[in-house]
Amino acid sequence: MAAVKLPDGKHLEIRPGDRARDVAERIGPRLLRDAVVAKLNGRLVDLDAPLNSGGEFEVVTKDSPEGLEVLRHSTAHAMAQAILELYPGSKLTLGPPIEDGFFYDIEVAGRITDEDLPRIEERMREIVERDLPIEREEVSKKEAERLYADNPYKLEIIHGLDDGDISVYRQGEFFDLCRGPHVPSTGSLGVFKLQNIAGAYWRGDENNPMLTRVYGTAWPTEKQLKAYLRRLEEARERDHRKIGKDLGLFTFSPEVGAGIPLFLPKGEMLRRLMEDYVREVQSRHGYDHVWTGHLVNEKLYERSGHLEHYSDSMFPPMVDGETRYRLKPMNCPSHMTLYNSEVHSYRDLPLRYAEFATLYRYEKSGELTGLTRVRALTQDDAHIFCTEEQVQEEFGRALEIIREVLDTYGFTDYRVRLSLRDPDDPKYLAGDERWSRAEEALRTALDASGIEYYPGVGEANFYGPKADFIARDVLGREWQLSTIQVDFFQPGRLGCEYVGEDGRAHTPVLLHRAVTGTTERFMAVVIEHYAGAFPVWLSPVQAVVIPVADRHLDYAWKVQRNLADRGLRVEVDDSANSMQKKIRENARQKIPYLLIVGDAEVGEDAVNVRRRGEKKQEAVGVEAFAERVLGEVLARE
Ligand SMILES: [Zn+2]
Ligand SMILES: [Zn+2]
Repeated sequence: MAAVKLPDGKHLEIRPGDRARDVAERIGPRLLRDAVVAKLNGRLVDLDAPLNSGGEFEVVTKDSPEGLEVLRHSTAHAMAQAILELYPGSKLTLGPPIEDGFFYDIEVAGRITDEDLPRIEERMREIVERDLPIEREEVSKKEAERLYADNPYKLEIIHGLDDGDISVYRQGEFFDLCRGPHVPSTGSLGVFKLQNIAGAYWRGDENNPMLTRVYGTAWPTEKQLKAYLRRLEEARERDHRKIGKDLGLFTFSPEVGAGIPLFLPKGEMLRRLMEDYVREVQSRHGYDHVWTGHLVNEKLYERSGHLEHYSDSMFPPMVDGETRYRLKPMNCPSHMTLYNSEVHSYRDLPLRYAEFATLYRYEKSGELTGLTRVRALTQDDAHIFCTEEQVQEEFGRALEIIREVLDTYGFTDYRVRLSLRDPDDPKYLAGDERWSRAEEALRTALDASGIEYYPGVGEANFYGPKADFIARDVLGREWQLSTIQVDFFQPGRLGCEYVGEDGRAHTPVLLHRAVTGTTERFMAVVIEHYAGAFPVWLSPVQAVVIPVADRHLDYAWKVQRNLADRGLRVEVDDSANSMQKKIRENARQKIPYLLIVGDAEVGEDAVNVRRRGEKKQEAVGVEAFAERVLGEVLARE
């Protein structure tokens, strides 16, 4: 008799005609209550799926990532049903689950706006109320075509499917072409909320018809939905585009061009502080800074192979007679050319070239968003030329730099993905031996660092293994920031050499390394992480002096000059606003220190200090205040 094997290793006999739900019920009726689907031999199946042959069996509940996806996609079906009922004649296309929710792209008969969403939600709740069983039905290609005779989108999908591999899910009158699986009935959906409407071209192609995309979110419980909506609101409040505008950090202008951020004085200060910091850390760790310009003769990219593999991301050439120039999309070939301008011996290695270079990459205009996706991006790039024996130490050194910088910014929750080769994939170039040694070196360095890491087999570049840092911000969102990549390939291709101890020419190994990734994107992450309330060392304006009355203005400027002379970034609010309004406005600008000066302070050579986020004020001598803040800056608090 057939049996299923449960996750705890136990076996359970199955009877003829048993469905997944019967087994789940035998494991425990409560488990069945939380079940959305089951997993049989690694594949998700409906609870009504027959279990003829047995195998590894697992119940999937609403709270698991897979269960959540099924729940969300099933909610998309209910939404599609509601829309078809309210807007008869609408045509469904595709409705996948996405992170935290789902969408459905629909050619709506009529028009849906955000105001219609409550009405659609209402109808969805009625459909839940009806508790319609959700049933799978295998259909032939012919039958599927008949069902969708008047829906060109679904017909296009069906044409791409193999006969014998087509299924339809029905709930009441509603049906949808779908691979499944789904929750057993509309009554087993969780809680949901429709969020917004957007336009989307069929198959993402702007030559195709524009469809209506309706976004929603779905969760097992009301509590989870509420928590999610709160997180969303918090993220909206912290959106770097909003804060960038409120704090006067950066802007964009169609007159300059899409994806080219323009930094206002405070934004440029922030940028410089961030870059100076990394520059300082790098210098301390033995890096040399170089500069290699913005234009590169295309021939170099022909030799490096970038023209062949990377030209989609490059701007078109600028032609000057016989020469074609490209805006630099990456530094590697330039740094290798720089390396080749001198003869190197093994004694020179490792050689570490670092550059804050603004690079230009052709991103589609539809994909540009704020500072996270731009066309002009500044990489804190470095290339380390070393011998194979030095890879481990250099990799470890890069890990240290990255860790120091991420810690300073308060990113303490991060992990590393160590991307390794898939030994069976022929795309991995360097000889087996070198790969194994390099992977071993990276592992050893990571182990020594104590940083949490996990392997990604088959995710390495074709030219070598790499490590990517994935950090969580205060909202728990993950960002891929830093990277260290080993390269066995490009130095040879561009003829980089060093004279070894044996007097012969050898090819160095190259490490590509970025600490914060790109300044622009990292700035977006940092803005959202701090919600614009930057620590003192990073604040474009560290203090604003606020005179109580006009007669204190001269003293206010004296304090400003005094503190500025000490290297602090201080302004005077000499606007016509009342003192209370000045305090409010500058607090809104998230200035770390407001220094209020009136009669008492003038006499004492003091300031009345109000720290960001605190109500209490405290009189401090100007000198003592300067010392305190300089101490904080030094400690990067
Ligand atoms: Zn479906
Ligand atoms: Zn590089």
